[in-house]
Amino acid sequence: MDTYRVQPGDKIKLNKWDPDGGEVAEIGKKAGNKEMLKLNDRLEALQELLYAESKQKVLIVLQAMDTGGKDGAIRHVFDGVNPQGVRVASFKVPTPEEQAHDYLWRVHKQTPGSGEMVIFNRSHYEDVLVVRVHELVPKAVWSRRYEQINNFERMLAEEGTTILKFYLHISPDEQKERLQARLDEPHKNWKFSTGDLAERKRWAEYMQAYEDMLSKTSTKWAPWYIIPANRKWLRNLLMSQIIVDALEGLDMKYPEPEEGLDKVVIE
Ligand code: AMP
Ligand code: MG
Repeated sequence: MDTYRVQPGDKIKLNKWDPDGGEVAEIGKKAGNKEMLKLNDRLEALQELLYAESKQKVLIVLQAMDTGGKDGAIRHVFDGVNPQGVRVASFKVPTPEEQAHDYLWRVHKQTPGSGEMVIFNRSHYEDVLVVRVHELVPKAVWSRRYEQINNFERMLAEEGTTILKFYLHISPDEQKERLQARLDEPHKNWKFSTGDLAERKRWAEYMQAYEDMLSKTSTKWAPWYIIPANRKWLRNLLMSQIIVDALEGLDMKYPEPEEGLDKVVIE
């Protein structure tokens, strides 16, 4: 899974990353989905353990272009986890109250507590992506945010949060097909926003912003993974594998039972 991890100091050029997945896609959808079922069971068990132990905090950040598959990944990768210990936080255009504060204010409030797993559907990275592309703040302001974000995430990590960040990488052709499907299929119409077409026109600018984000904010304590996301089944499989590996590395344990449980008789 190290193949997908951005090493600190790497200079990312996204045209060198195949959104179809290359060789790994050869396992095929059928075998991939079979593997996915196993990983899904593992993830369920690990999340139960995370919740029971109630020591670790887990933060999963998702970023992608429109139609990149953030919603689908959340539905499939986390299928079956206990809603009591898992939460999704979605970040939209800031409200006036959020706008009145620093850009990390709304984000910090949503970070996980002990035993909790939180999935960010978009994140503080919008503040170096859409904000940069649309010049919502001057360059002098957004360009210092990379370091601020690294420091913020380091603080979270030092306080016990495991952070995994996923960029779901699709091609412009794939986006075109997915946008078209949102137009053509009535049950997908609600997802279509004409605003997405304006963003699509700025694809190259977004890629530049994503490349800088990936190159400047993948750290030891909060790595980015670039997930080939043209194939949904492969995207789900790779994300699941990376999350399961990370949770297994946490070495979690169920809390010690009360003493003398073996002698308890229930009348
Ligand atoms: P969606 O996730 O499709 O519901 O769209 C949410 C929209 O909110 C996207 O167009 C994001 O770019 C936008 N958004 C999220 N965070 C920010 C931010 N900090 N500043 C400006 N726009 C944002
Ligand atoms: Mg959208």
